[in-house]
Parts: sequence; C-alpha cells; structure tokens
Amino acid sequence: MAKVAIVGAGPAGCSAGYHLAQSGHDVTLIDQHRFPRDKVCGDGISIESIQALSTMGIYPQNIRTLAAEYAPIHRFFLGVSNQIEHSELTKLEAYCIPRFVFDYLLYTKAIDAGCQVLTQTVNKQDWQDQGLPDAFDMIIDARGVSAGEVTAIAIRAYWMVNRHDVSETALTEAQIHFDRSLGVNGYGWIFPVATQQDLIKFNVGVGVWLDEYKTINTNIIQLFQQFIQSNNIARQLRTKIVSQRSPKVFPLATAKRGNQVVDGKILKIGDAANLTDPLTGEGIANAVLSGFHVAQAINMSRTSDAASENWQYLYESHFEADLRAGLGIRAWRKFSLMNYGLIWLMKRNPRIARQVSHAVAGVVPYHEVFVSLNY
Ligand SMILES: Cc1cc2nc3c(=O)[nH]c(=O)nc-3n(C[C@H](O)[C@H](O)[C@H](O)COP(=O)(O)OP(=O)(O)OC[C@H]3O[C@@H](n4cnc5c(N)ncnc54)[C@H](O)[C@@H]3O)c2cc1C
Repeated sequence: MAKVAIVGAGPAGCSAGYHLAQSGHDVTLIDQHRFPRDKVCGDGISIESIQALSTMGIYPQNIRTLAAEYAPIHRFFLGVSNQIEHSELTKLEAYCIPRFVFDYLLYTKAIDAGCQVLTQTVNKQDWQDQGLPDAFDMIIDARGVSAGEVTAIAIRAYWMVNRHDVSETALTEAQIHFDRSLGVNGYGWIFPVATQQDLIKFNVGVGVWLDEYKTINTNIIQLFQQFIQSNNIARQLRTKIVSQRSPKVFPLATAKRGNQVVDGKILKIGDAANLTDPLTGEGIANAVLSGFHVAQAINMSRTSDAASENWQYLYESHFEADLRAGLGIRAWRKFSLMNYGLIWLMKRNPRIARQVSHAVAGVVPYHEVFVSLNY
C-alpha cells in the first residue's frame, strides 16, 4: 500500500483522500486552513455533482440531514439581457449549499474513511524542503486554482432576504443570466443557497473570461454593479436585502487545450488540473470525479511512474471530450448571436430547450447535446 500526501482538502482532495483511504492506502490530507473554511463559489451543487458525490457515499438524503444550510433546486433559468429567457423544470434535484457547509461535509467523510489531516501551507517550491518526496510514495496536488492556470475571474456576494419578500419559485430556481451589459463573455447568477429559515440567503455573482476581461477598461466590482443595475431580477432582489456580506473576488481555473494533469510524479486534480467547465464555471463535479479517477490510477498501478501515466490516460478518456466541447462552444459564442439565437430556438423547440437546460445543469454532457440536435 502506498503512502500518499494530498495537498489541498477541497472537494478534489477530499474525494481522492476518501477513495484512497477506503482502498487501504496511508493518506495524509494537508490544507493551509482549518476546517470548516469558506471558499468563494456560486455554491451550485449541480446534478452532475450530486451524481459524483455518490462515489463518496453522499446521497441527497444525507445532504438534507447533514447540511446546516442548503436549497434544493428544481428549476433552471437561462436568460439573456432581460429580453429573452427560458425556465426548465428538472425531475432530478440539484442543490445549492454554502461551501463553508459543503466542504466540511466532504472533509469529515475523508477523515471517517481514514485520512490523517494536517494544517500546513505547502507551496510547490517548498515541497522538496519540507521533505514530501522522501516521506511519501506519491503526491497529489489538489491546491485548487492557486496551482492551476487562471482563466477566469468571478465575484460573489451573499444577500439575506425575508422569505415573504420572495416568490416560492425563487427558492428552488438556479438562475444564470448571459447579460449583454457585461460587455464581455461571461454570466451573472442568482442562486438561493439557504432556504430553511425565515431569512433566505442568496448567492449573487458574476464571472468573466480573463482574456476578454483584460481588454476592457473596467473591473470585476464594476461589472457586478452593472449586472445588478441592468438585470431586472437582480435589481428587484437588491431592494429586499435586509443584510449582506461584502462581495469577494476569486479566480477560476477553467479547461484549457492540451492539458497535462501530471507534473513529474505529481498528480494534479480538480482546479489544480484546470478541470472547471469552460462555459458555466462549474468545477465541483469534476473535482470530485478527478479524486475518484486518480485513486483508480494509483490502485491499478504498481509504480508511481505507472500511476502518473494512468492518471493522464484516465483524464483524457473521462474528461477531455466534454471539456473540449465546452471550449468549442465558448470560442464560438458571441453574446448577441449565439445566446440570443439559442434561447430563441429553445423557446420554439421544447426538446432543444430541455437538452440545453440539462447540459447547463450538468445532466447531459455538452457533446451529447450536439449529437441530439442533429436528429
Ligand atoms: C466565484 C466562483 C463561483 C463558482 N461557482 C461554482 C458553482 O456554482 N458550482 C461549481 O460546481 N463550481 C463553481 N466554481 C468552481 C469551484 O469553486 C471549483 O471548481 C472547486 O472549488 C474546485 O475544487 P478543488 O478541490 O479543486 O479546489 P478548492 O475547492 O479551491 O480547494 C483547494 C484547497 O487547497 C488549499 N490550498 C491551496 N493552496 C494551498 C497550499 N499552498 N498549501 C496547503 N493547502 C492549500 C485551499 O485552502 C483549499 O482548501 C466557482 C468558482 C468561483 C471562483
């Protein structure tokens, strides 16, 4: 059995830790923070993430009993600049859960499976000094975006609103707005994240791609203000706020072409390996799944060299096709053309509407939407 160090205890690191400890390895899970800790995120636990969590023995019924704060999501809303929108009911349930709550759930699951935990900052340049390569047979880098390549930037705020000031639909609906007012490719979101009390918590934010963001003469805080100003739903919700937490900015490591998820003997997973969806910024599902597959790569290999090779192979066979399809759509997408055109089509054709909503919600992969549109 191998001695494995996992640096980073977010969803990717906890998933890898859980699976490796379950299969008998000696696992040390290292994070710079004590848990529970916050992570800036939209807090959307998509249907794909819910499926991925079942590999860790976490099911919707556990979420409902273990999570102190959550919102069950039944409906996905896609909108473009207030003018055209589509709302789709899904039979499968997704969730929104503040990461402070969600990540701790995964962390305790990894500990219960047998991981030892350590609170320590480990930077790659210190790994040698801190003796990691000598002390461990294998090192998994799960340090999130700080170890990946930054490709997008996003901002998140929490708004507290009285239950009687919002519609019942708003309590179970995840809204994504491709808003032209941003002036760059990106999106705004309005997600309910805690709906159990009289005071409802909403997560409201904006994400944009870095290459375009660099070319505009504004900053992410101004883009966030612009989104709220120009979006009817966000503007109305803002008038109902009874308390709020100031917005926080955080980078994202979305997919890139020709991705290498192995760096010598270091296996990269989650955001450290740029596994976030290049269209929606959703990264939890792939973080959890990459933890599962990296554990498989280690389990089926006799040497650390073979584990590295097998992890790159599993990455290419399980993740690359869909991330590439997402990158293709992103490259092709222009606000006024594709977003409008697509939602126009969705309004006229319920089958397309369902497929696209389900792809955004993570029920079907992007490349399958292309296939189904041909029929
Ligand atoms: C604003 C925003 C909104 C998003 N919205 C969504 C969403 O709604 N749904 C979704 O699925 N995804 C969303 N994402 C993406 C999602 O947050 C990430 O894809 C996901 O957190 C990746 O998990 P991870 O385990 O790879 O990394 P992380 O969750 O970032 O975990 C990395 C861990 O490594 C630790 N660490 C970092 N450096 C060191 C170090 N040097 N030493 C020790 N420990 C270290 C950190 O403390 C952290 O605990 C969003 C991202 C942003 C920025």
